[in-house]
Amino acid sequence: MILPPKEVWYQYKQLLVDSEGTERLISVQADPMVFEDCFGDNLFRSPQDAAQAVEDYGHEDEAAEDQWILCAVTFDPESRYGSMINRINNITVNVDCQHCGKSCPVQVVPEQYSQWKQGIYIQDAMPQLSPDDRELLMSRTCTACWDEMFGPEDDE
Ligand SMILES: [Zn+2]
Repeated sequence: MILPPKEVWYQYKQLLVDSEGTERLISVQADPMVFEDCFGDNLFRSPQDAAQAVEDYGHEDEAAEDQWILCAVTFDPESRYGSMINRINNITVNVDCQHCGKSCPVQVVPEQYSQWKQGIYIQDAMPQLSPDDRELLMSRTCTACWDEMFGPEDDE
């Protein structure tokens, strides 16, 4: 028998901690009495697609408030468990500002980070990063030094 290949998709989950401190990942917006469409059912091809969908559906506020967690969902026909859900942990990249030497931490998704390193535009690879964090990664210039060189940025 030939089994279909293993597939990896991406999905947001919400972290729930019960009274005993056990962590559970639950579907986001799964209550049909509250939400017409369950966003939590959606599977995405890449972390970028998932982040883009949160933006497209206008769920940024809920995602931040309820601390939606990006997870990799692996469907493995060869595993007796069938599918596995793994939380994608952000990693911290410390960038030393090339002007003042200050070490600045930036939270990134490992897969997104390596895509950027492979030449994907930073705004496509890591759409959820703030402009300041993107600038830090690209030009190794911290916000304070940036403001000193070019004046404070007018957001809007
Ligand atoms: Zn600096």
